[in-house]
Amino acid sequence: MAIEKTLAIIKPDAVGRGLAGDILKHIHEAKFKIVAVKSLRLTKSEAEGFYAVHRERPFFKDLTEFMSSGKVVVMALEAENAIARWRETMGATDPAKAAPGTIRKTYGTSIQNNCTHGSDAPDTARFEISYFFSGMELI
Ligand code: ATP
Ligand code: MG
Repeated sequence: MAIEKTLAIIKPDAVGRGLAGDILKHIHEAKFKIVAVKSLRLTKSEAEGFYAVHRERPFFKDLTEFMSSGKVVVMALEAENAIARWRETMGATDPAKAAPGTIRKTYGTSIQNNCTHGSDAPDTARFEISYFFSGMELI
């Protein structure tokens, strides 16, 4: 298994409900290394750029409004098999279908308001990490 980096976001629903600390505890317990972290509020167009792969989906407008509705916590996480492992730690997109003990099952309230984001493949992880962090911030 290779050491990988993935992009994680604690979404505005979770930050707004004061859940960032609880979610960081899941990250710690799952033994990810936080290589870089920042807190910021995305503009609508920054959210659209981030989720550009979904621009034709019916939920794109709501999703980008939601993602720009409040502060997020963005992290580059590193671990063996980090991309798949972070998605397992988050659980399925729809909290109702997520496995017990996962972040989305524990804290998510709807398929949109599902508390966290994770990259889904090595190429998207590279794009997403570089969307938020410069090379120097990832040393
Ligand atoms: P993410 O990319 O945020 O980690 P994901 O990879 O599990 O989530 P995607 O299919 O990439 O799921 O969808 C991106 C985000 O769009 C979801 O996390 C969720 O917030 C929202 N979303 C996905 N499907 C729907 C839907 N049917 N209705 C409303 N929002 C949705
Ligand atoms: Mg996705």
